[in-house]
Amino acid sequence: MSVETLERSIDELMSDYLAGACPCRFPRFRATVGRDITALFGVAEYTNPEQEQLIARFDARVALTGRSPTRTGWRGFCARCNGEIVREDIEGEREPASHLFITPGPAPDVGAPFEGAIPRVYGFYPLGRAAPSQLVVAQLNAAYPLMSEEHWLAWMRARQR
Ligand SMILES: [Zn+2]
Repeated sequence: MSVETLERSIDELMSDYLAGACPCRFPRFRATVGRDITALFGVAEYTNPEQEQLIARFDARVALTGRSPTRTGWRGFCARCNGEIVREDIEGEREPASHLFITPGPAPDVGAPFEGAIPRVYGFYPLGRAAPSQLVVAQLNAAYPLMSEEHWLAWMRARQR
């Protein structure tokens, strides 16, 4: 599956989230976009295509109110659910790693609950110029289990029963 296909799939996922709700009300979305690899390894930043794409589509399609700048990005509130949004772009040597932290507003969750490890579709890549050691790659792969894109999209899209 190519990254271009993933971009299209993630845009469709965002359309589903925005049909009658918003992505903030999906716990699995919140967990995935807030995934902070730096917390696990400290030294270098890593990110991966689906996390970057989810955040890019959120930025493009979810309106914020009360947006104000912060040291590494911005914060504001989702115009639909009033959840608190904190966006940060941590500078890497090549490109920034994006994080999106969402504190839900008063509206109840729509998506299925999140528990366990945050799965991934693609591998992580380093934002610096140094290649990660085999140990770091092994730790990343163990911490974030691989899922096929098809299963991952269904997992992300799942609603409360
Ligand atoms: Zn929202």
